[in-house]
Amino acid sequence: YSTAVALEEPIKPTVNVDHTKLFINGQFVDSASGKTFPTLDPRTGEVIAHIAEGDAEDINRAVAAARKAFDEGPWPRMTAYERSKILLRLADLIEKHNDQIAMLETWDTGKPYAQAAKIEVPMVVRLLRYYAGWADKIHGMTIPADGPYHVQTLHEPIGVAGQIIPWNFPLLIFSWKIGPALACGNTIVLKTAEQTPLSALYVANLLQEAGLPEGVLNIISGFGATAGASLCSHMDVDKLAFTGSTETGKTILELSAKSNLKPVTLELGGKSPFIVCEDADIDTAVEQAHLALFFNQGQCCCAGSRTYVHEKIYDEFLEKAKARSLKRVVGDPFKSGTEQGPQIDSKQFDKIMKYIRSGVDSGATLETGGEQFGKKGYYIKPTVFSNVKDDMLIAQDEIFGPVQSILKFKDLDEVVRRANSSRYGLAAGVFSQNIDTANTLARALRVGTVWINCFDRFDATIPFGGYKMSGQGREKGEYGLRNYLQVKAVVTPL
Ligand code: NAD
Repeated sequence: YSTAVALEEPIKPTVNVDHTKLFINGQFVDSASGKTFPTLDPRTGEVIAHIAEGDAEDINRAVAAARKAFDEGPWPRMTAYERSKILLRLADLIEKHNDQIAMLETWDTGKPYAQAAKIEVPMVVRLLRYYAGWADKIHGMTIPADGPYHVQTLHEPIGVAGQIIPWNFPLLIFSWKIGPALACGNTIVLKTAEQTPLSALYVANLLQEAGLPEGVLNIISGFGATAGASLCSHMDVDKLAFTGSTETGKTILELSAKSNLKPVTLELGGKSPFIVCEDADIDTAVEQAHLALFFNQGQCCCAGSRTYVHEKIYDEFLEKAKARSLKRVVGDPFKSGTEQGPQIDSKQFDKIMKYIRSGVDSGATLETGGEQFGKKGYYIKPTVFSNVKDDMLIAQDEIFGPVQSILKFKDLDEVVRRANSSRYGLAAGVFSQNIDTANTLARALRVGTVWINCFDRFDATIPFGGYKMSGQGREKGEYGLRNYLQVKAVVTPL
């Protein structure tokens, strides 16, 4: 692993952790219980800061603030243009604080600093600007009904949105959630992931300067089983949006059903096929397949985690994929040039190592990697398996780590059948120089996104979401607005 840096001496980030409390009704406040929990540095497992731990009582306080802001406050009542200007100011402020936010994000998650600073925080800014642009373009229709009526539809905000986010892209997914909800005029209680509370709290401190009225966006740090579950069960929450594991997604649907049937948007796990046809540009496919899996330490819901390669090019592809993994720069995420940092925590580290053992035990060939990198923290060597079969656990489960599984196929019908045999349906990559082949595959795959001759290309405009057990609903783009709007029909006799 080319430039192993001294992991024993982690680089000290030059940013302070100034905000550790809950953010309710425009104020940083202690949790009702007075409890805190540590947020840890994945490079070492050491404590970065102690964070106020929200539970049911804090969720009650935050929902009450969001309800008041919705029922009585200026946010849903101001003109859409005013709302748009506040979102634009928030985007400007995040842009101004780009480097501090990126540093906190890297410290809390272990992702390379360059990725946080040059890709993710700019994408947050882009997304908020995109939805700011939508605020005053949301409108209903007039409908030619069969009768002497004037029929119009009004698109109204749903009310108080409960939002729960994961640790792999903390601020990016935060923006996917708050952007459309705020543009539509809703108020929010958002729970961050317990592993990564820092970047959202930093942004909380910018909300007042942006002009967001108090109570419109409340941010609770805390655990899923306590704060998260209370938010999902709350009778005064009108909508839920969740990103995380499929198992938790099921719990969230259940909690909604057992309380007030609030509608739920789910963005869940995946086991995305990456299909390399015999006529693909092999070097590009190797590089993109590598990034599709290893980007963000393999901790992406849409990771291309089943690399299907046509038998005619399999051997060449495998040699090149292995060589690329051996060149991957693993090290301190604050060091420039690092491509891969540590996994998020010991739980994920152990889970990934277990999958690696299961791959070996089930007869896949471990081409490279397969063990811890360094002695401290949660670094794992980029791992490549060949001779992977569809029925192996490593080809079926979401590993959420730097483990590439390479499988062989013979013809297109077969690869479509195998790619679609997953319980997931989030995304797919298709590599072919024949546009007919690429389009045929794109139509046949039962997934929410198909990238042709590319992978992981995201933009605020492009809808994202899953088929099957990868989720319900779409986020981003114009489709993302639908999650946060009620449609009211108004009928007047002519
Ligand atoms: P998780 O689904 O348990 O956690 C995601 C969020 O849900 C966190 O904010 C968590 O506090 C909250 N949560 C957990 N239990 C809850 C409950 N009962 N009610 C309400 N909220 C609850 O995910 P995890 O344990 O952090 O990671 C486990 C696996 O999930 C990973 O290995 C990976 O496969 C998957 N994952 C997927 C994504 C994604 O983007 N789709 C993101 C993170 C994790």
